[in-house]
Amino acid sequence: MRSVKKQVGVCRLCKQHRNLRNSHIWPSFGYRDFVSDRETGGAFINLETNRFFPKQIKRYWYCNDCEQVFSRGEKYAKEMLAEIDEQNPSPTEYDERFHAFCTSISLRTLEYCGGIKSLPKRSEVKSAHKYWRDYLLGNRSDVLPFSMHCFLLFDKDLSMHKAMGGHVFHEKNLILSQVGPLFIVALLSRRQLSIGDLDIWSQSLVSAKGETLMPWKEWRPNGNITDSFFDVLVKHQREVVERVTSRTWGLDTEFTSG
Ligand SMILES: [Zn+2]
Repeated sequence: MRSVKKQVGVCRLCKQHRNLRNSHIWPSFGYRDFVSDRETGGAFINLETNRFFPKQIKRYWYCNDCEQVFSRGEKYAKEMLAEIDEQNPSPTEYDERFHAFCTSISLRTLEYCGGIKSLPKRSEVKSAHKYWRDYLLGNRSDVLPFSMHCFLLFDKDLSMHKAMGGHVFHEKNLILSQVGPLFIVALLSRRQLSIGDLDIWSQSLVSAKGETLMPWKEWRPNGNITDSFFDVLVKHQREVVERVTSRTWGLDTEFTSG
């Protein structure tokens, strides 16, 4: 009989010493609904290494209560996406649960690949991390200035929306996470942004109180996204598309033992 693995430790969200759950870094519905490719045996792309990875990434990082905080947002986002017509997406209203979902995804991307332990204590990234934790624990009503932004985009030509994962771009002061057609961006600093850039970012802001999510057909540098973020996307797109559309893909063996 297989024994049930139990782990006790400090939960990364509430910082309490508790039994830890084996939690998904990126939500299970994303694998099932957008990413899994039956032809490749259910593999998805790992945006951290930009390689195909054959299993879902999980870590013993959070306690049961904190896992519930994540689940609530994931359930909401899953249902929201299920309502959207991929061929003809229309503006979609959301409430505060979608903001919580975006925040929890950005937090997990930061913890998974942000190298947060090696950053200096007083860095803005650590402040962002603290703000997001406080918000998710109900001790703060918003995450500003470390705001969440989201772009809903189905990429019919390149199938770029069939990917999930994330990456921290320290030099650009942002985190890009992707859950299928949702491209979630978290700003780690606003210091080097011009007024024009801030104006562009405000269009994609996810409101903590709820708002309307607009679908996009394309990326428009200096229109719906900043030039600097466009550079990030070009790199991201090249790497993802190359692998999503490639017939010769390698398995990500680096991560299979982790
Ligand atoms: Zn916890």
